Amino acid sequence: MKIIIVGAGFAGVAAGRTLVDAGHEVVIFEGRDRIGGRTHTDSSLGPDIDFGGSWIHGPHGNPLNAIAKAAGATWKWTDFKNLIGDSVMAFDTDGTQLDTAEYTQGIHDYDGAMAMLEGSILGQAPDDSIKSMADLYAAGLVDDSAGESYATAKGNLFTRKIRFQYENAASLEESAYNVGAYLKLPGGDNLLCGGGYRRVITHLARGVEIKLSLAVKDIKYADDRVTVCTDQGDFVGDACLVTVPLGVLQSGNITFDPQLPAEKAAAIDRMGMGNYEKIALKFPKIFWPTEPHRINFLSDHEPPLYNAWLNFAHFTGDPVLVCYHGGPMAQYSNTIEDEDLIAGCVETLKKMFGPDVPDPVSYIRTRWAEDEFSLGSYSFTKVGQLEGDRDELAKPVAQKLFFAGEATHPNFYGTVHGAYESGVRAAREILSV
Ligand SMILES: Cc1cc2nc3c(=O)[nH]c(=O)nc-3n(C[C@H](O)[C@H](O)[C@H](O)COP(=O)(O)OP(=O)(O)OC[C@H]3O[C@@H](n4cnc5c(N)ncnc54)[C@H](O)[C@@H]3O)c2cc1C
Repeated sequence: MKIIIVGAGFAGVAAGRTLVDAGHEVVIFEGRDRIGGRTHTDSSLGPDIDFGGSWIHGPHGNPLNAIAKAAGATWKWTDFKNLIGDSVMAFDTDGTQLDTAEYTQGIHDYDGAMAMLEGSILGQAPDDSIKSMADLYAAGLVDDSAGESYATAKGNLFTRKIRFQYENAASLEESAYNVGAYLKLPGGDNLLCGGGYRRVITHLARGVEIKLSLAVKDIKYADDRVTVCTDQGDFVGDACLVTVPLGVLQSGNITFDPQLPAEKAAAIDRMGMGNYEKIALKFPKIFWPTEPHRINFLSDHEPPLYNAWLNFAHFTGDPVLVCYHGGPMAQYSNTIEDEDLIAGCVETLKKMFGPDVPDPVSYIRTRWAEDEFSLGSYSFTKVGQLEGDRDELAKPVAQKLFFAGEATHPNFYGTVHGAYESGVRAAREILSV
């Protein structure tokens, strides 16, 4: 059987690996001039920096852990919630440093309250958005914040207002709380800072034929064959596995003939594609403390900007900071020209670390939302999305067209391991035809 796979991200390459190992003829068509899709490791600033997916979220039970190990990639644990006491440093809007212990208390108060709300939310909120949950919290349903310190209130506010938006890559209003669907694997979050996801996918892709810079435009399927039309001609196979991002499916940039079934098309429309962007800045020297993993800034801009920083100096010893924007913050940041974005970063760093902060010597920023091969960062569960929509997206059509990609995973959507598992699942579906 000859199988054409569209997309050489983790889903496509995992499927390719599984099918090649089972003895099938496989070719992957990839629109970009590189593999990896929404994982993209760049080393031009010095360290291996991942500008898409960068953590293995939860190593326990995560298939990527063993693959990363076999590939020779190395990682370091990131303590997002300051479990060890000095791994998150936080600053107020005017640059005053907040007491770490009190600030951390705010993170845990909010997380604890939301966990309690999970059980009681149904029927109490006007809709299932995270905004409604946060409003119930703020309205005092489970809020025990009376008498909390200023720094604790700020830790609480950062978690409520900023962290959820960059984790979901969407606004609190658009994101459904989606109780129980997303599963977080245990064991913490490991930053792949030695070799990055590039090393992992290169290892996974060995022996799989991949044609780069080949953009698929149209997929025609019939009982006996699939014809994949690209910008460089038409190719025929026995089956086709589509792994392009949800944003690309929503855009209609790839057409299907016959059209996709109405149920699948409706599921694609209802689902949410989020926004999450990064800017990495390399400085002439390290002028900030190396102990914290994360530096948080309580921006008073609406939407908040320059609020979350990853301290590469901690992980690799390099003079590099990476600033993140998620959801509405990412959308807004994409409207800012490079030099203004850098100026905003430097101004914020000056507030936190004093007037001697130098200009960066180089930088790299992402624009996943505008990239024609991603059109967003990763899927989120949108208010109005139906429980079965991810399964509907994953369903094969006419035993000829198969679907994988992070958005098709019922529990690990929005992650690299979700993409990987979906690729293996789709390969097995093809093998069982
Ligand atoms: C900024 C950011 C941060 C993230 N952080 C994390 C993290 O820390 N940990 C984590 O687990 N996950 C993270 N994710 C999510 C994770 O990166 C993705 O879920 C995962 O990489 C998706 O893999 P995929 O194979 O489903 O899709 P993709 O990697 O997008 O692969 C699809 C492929 O299809 C190709 N393609 C698209 N259109 C066409 C076409 N017309 N013709 C041919 N090829 C086409 C694309 O170029 C791409 O290579 C992050 C993502 C982003 C963007």
